[in-house]
Amino acid sequence: MSAALLAVQAACRDCHACHDAGFQVESLPVFEGRPGQQAYLLGQAPGIVEGDERRPWRGRAGKQLRRWLGLDEEAFYATFYCASVTRCYPGRVPGGRGDRAPSPPERDLCARWRDEELRLLAPRLVVPVGGLAIQGLLGGAGSRTGSLPLTALIGERFQRDGAVVIPLPHPSGASSWPHQPGNRERLDRALAAIAAELTAIAL
Ligand code: SF4
Repeated sequence: MSAALLAVQAACRDCHACHDAGFQVESLPVFEGRPGQQAYLLGQAPGIVEGDERRPWRGRAGKQLRRWLGLDEEAFYATFYCASVTRCYPGRVPGGRGDRAPSPPERDLCARWRDEELRLLAPRLVVPVGGLAIQGLLGGAGSRTGSLPLTALIGERFQRDGAVVIPLPHPSGASSWPHQPGNRERLDRALAAIAAELTAIAL
């Protein structure tokens, strides 16, 4: 399985499917992980810093995420296989503020890498971070979570293909979600559940 995962990683690093399909992306693929990791983190897409460094969670949102999880950089990257819904920096919103959210066809194109990694890693814990990642893992037609708002999912545990799935909101400073009434408690519940799973994995 290790060799198969390394082969998938090598192919992903060379992926230019979005460019071939006419989508605008502004970095090479970004992810980081190694065979044997039992915790899988799925973000939305790299930002400009991550695209430049070709390493996930390098900017302010990454720092906030590590603060939430109580992990320093070394422990964070040692613990989590870090992937995202799409893996190339999507660029800025044309004429607007912030980064462009990857479109559904881009997400579909990139899902093959996530699916291969999850199949080969078979992690015990999966943490989708932010609405698009949560929707990609837990949503979909007929799912019991597909139409639920983020508020209803944070602080809950789900099962997917033998893994425990514990969603988190996006740690971007632009998000007001953690500051809304009741949401800090939901976030704390989710973080406690993740800590408990990581402890169980380490035993
Ligand atoms: S976003 Fe995903 S599918 Fe698109 S080029 Fe990058 S790695 Fe390939």
